[in-house]
Amino acid sequence: MNQTPVTATDEGIQVVGARENNLRDVSLVIPKNRITVFVGVSGSGKSSLVFDTVAVEAQRQLNATFPWNIRHDLPKFERPHVDAVTRLTTPVVVDQRPLGGNARSTVGTVTDVYTVMRVLFANHGNDGLGQTWLYSFNDPKGMCPECEGLGRARRVSPELMIDRGKSIAEGAILLPGYTVGSANWQFYANYERLDAEKKLADYTDEEMHTLLHGSSGTVEVTYPNGNVLSLRYEGLVDSFVRRHLKRDTGGMSKAARDKAAEFFTEGVCPTCEGARLNQKALATRIDGHNIADWSQMQVSDLIGVVATLRERLDTPLVTTIIETLEQIQAIGLGYLTLDRSTSTLSGGEGQRLKLVNHLGSELTGLTYIFDEPSVGLHPRDVSRLNDLLRALRDKGNTVLVVEHDPDVMAVADHVVEIGPRAGVHGGTIVFEGSHEELRAADTLTGQGLRRTGGIKENPRPWGRTLPIVNATANNLKNVSTEIPTGVLTAVTGVAGAGKSSLIAHAFRAQYPGAVFVDQSPIPRSSRSTPASYLKLMDPIRKLFAKASGEDASLFSFNSKGACEECEGRGLLITEVAYMDPVTTHCEVCEGRRFKESVLQHRVRGKNIADVLEMSAEEAGEFFLSGPLRAKANALIETGIGYLGLGQSLATLSGGERQRLKLADRLSGSGTVYILDEPTTGLHLSDIDNLVGLLNRIVDRGNTVIVIEHDLAVISQADWVIDLGPEGGNTGGEIVFTGTPADLARAAHSHTGQHLSLYLA
Ligand code: ADP
Ligand code: ADP
Ligand code: ZN
Ligand code: ZN
Repeated sequence: MNQTPVTATDEGIQVVGARENNLRDVSLVIPKNRITVFVGVSGSGKSSLVFDTVAVEAQRQLNATFPWNIRHDLPKFERPHVDAVTRLTTPVVVDQRPLGGNARSTVGTVTDVYTVMRVLFANHGNDGLGQTWLYSFNDPKGMCPECEGLGRARRVSPELMIDRGKSIAEGAILLPGYTVGSANWQFYANYERLDAEKKLADYTDEEMHTLLHGSSGTVEVTYPNGNVLSLRYEGLVDSFVRRHLKRDTGGMSKAARDKAAEFFTEGVCPTCEGARLNQKALATRIDGHNIADWSQMQVSDLIGVVATLRERLDTPLVTTIIETLEQIQAIGLGYLTLDRSTSTLSGGEGQRLKLVNHLGSELTGLTYIFDEPSVGLHPRDVSRLNDLLRALRDKGNTVLVVEHDPDVMAVADHVVEIGPRAGVHGGTIVFEGSHEELRAADTLTGQGLRRTGGIKENPRPWGRTLPIVNATANNLKNVSTEIPTGVLTAVTGVAGAGKSSLIAHAFRAQYPGAVFVDQSPIPRSSRSTPASYLKLMDPIRKLFAKASGEDASLFSFNSKGACEECEGRGLLITEVAYMDPVTTHCEVCEGRRFKESVLQHRVRGKNIADVLEMSAEEAGEFFLSGPLRAKANALIETGIGYLGLGQSLATLSGGERQRLKLADRLSGSGTVYILDEPTTGLHLSDIDNLVGLLNRIVDRGNTVIVIEHDLAVISQADWVIDLGPEGGNTGGEIVFTGTPADLARAAHSHTGQHLSLYLA
């Protein structure tokens, strides 16, 4: 499927004078109907070009084509810093942003395959009622009445509400707000059918039922203001359920809701047993399976079940279902079940699922933009990802991919490298051409591609070990192993094999001191910066206070020093219903967050805003010594020395957030660090630095465990635990433990096979 060579014709997307973030007046042509891969070290400017310039401008131009009354309701995209971007087509950004935390959204619903299954069951089920909404757990006619289609239900635990060793008069009711003498308490103490002086343990079954669920007669209650009201009696449990379960409790204080939550237990819905549907819907079967049985099967297994229908049922529905399931499988997600809530998927899984949707789309002529689609993918599955990217292109779309994985780079019709290095040392185009030409290029990526892999010669000897015994979380098949301390351990295996289940569950449950350095968002990140996260703001403010004789709080954009227009945010945020909020620069402070008067005060020629605009690298030179210098060095050591000290944490990628968290926890010894795919967003040349850093952390007397797919990291570990053999129910076992050199000889392991190819 070789494409004709790419020439920079005037038919491509033309970018002229891009200057967003660190870009230095970049101009280029991106060929249409081709796959262009953008490479370069992290922080070089790939996202600034592809996402902040091309995608934003495409979206902005698209919105401008709508009539003004519609445009009014669309998010306002600020014009990127670029002279012109022309010949754009409709953009589709397929990124790692979560698919949405809605508990009603599942793998089946977001890929639409569940909708087709509903039609199939309605028309071809043994008892099919011809009504597709009956099979929808999001429709009142189909949903289980108990859990309202969520599959999980909260139940009250009456035992937690009462103390059987006491009488009502002695305070047997444990719910908050029922203290002896209160109006709530009188409701039960004064009720004629209950004996307030009798211990609950001595109640008859009937009396207990009256207390918890009774509903006849009235009772008189005296309120603190002297009012006496006669109220209809309601049992303790029923009253609690009515107030806390059936009603929207959003108006209650968080403390009240938290307190009430103590009396609930959450679990699989007892009525539908997690099937989400009512009994009528579940009665409809095809070959003995109902639609919930299908949804609870792993996609790879469901394919076989549906395929047996193909001969008997002459309907295109079956073909459509199989095609979508095969695409989910092809992208390496065959271990998922259709009823899996999308809120529990990782960013990489979510991105690949979005890709499946677009493959099914009939639209062509779009510009697809991907952000590191290989995240979380085992080398075995990368070639399948490439097939899908090619399929998108061959349908007549333009495909742009930001990627670090050499195997994905190989899919490129055209490669653009931004560099030469990060931040102020990057922002220019250092290479444009074919993948073959890139391999010969004298750029960091070209050099990285020519490098051959080595393997750790002398693995470190072990210290004591941390046992994991009979782990059964998710798909784990009762596995036991030992994690050596004082060394670097890589946990490997295809996606869905059980790596996170093994490490996260075992460590969270058994080793409370372990430090998880993950990629999750940092709370309050729009006001936080690397400087505030690393607790550098106090010492910096003190420097300025000392030099100026002013109060230190003047040098805070969260306090006295804040620009009054944007309240120290540097930008103005507009919330738009159903969309991501839209931000625009504050024109008063020009995004610098501070009042003009604060900026008169200087330390060694720099004002506070200048200091916060410095990268960690520059700051390392500016702060001559002390904790400021040490933290700046930690940022450089973790490979994010190019970040601005005052850059909003909301602008960081997952990989950058992870490295920032690592920088904060670098010092110390005797600690267990756990990192999930720390190579995310890292260039080939950065990976060497990462391995060096992990080794230094170990050498300081720590234990480091990485969940990784990157063969350069795996080959440098002291110990490897490989899970598999496949994902989901065909995974969950330990297929290999040993040194990387032994792993390369383990032909029964997918990781072993790919490691030996990498070393060849
Ligand atoms: P890449 O995608 O190649 O990793 P980026 O385009 O994200 O690189 O970043 C290029 C440079 O611009 C880096 O120095 C980064 O810190 C900086 N940068 C990125 N986004 C922002 C932002 N929103 N505000 C300020 N600086 C930013
Ligand atoms: P890995 O880390 O190797 O990619 P995981 O430990 O994430 O694998 O997943 C192992 C299995 O457990 C997979 O079948 C996955 O679908 C399942 N699983 C993981 N997390 C959840 C969850 N929150 N709910 C249900 N199943 C899950
Ligand atoms: Zn239910
Ligand atoms: Zn401002």
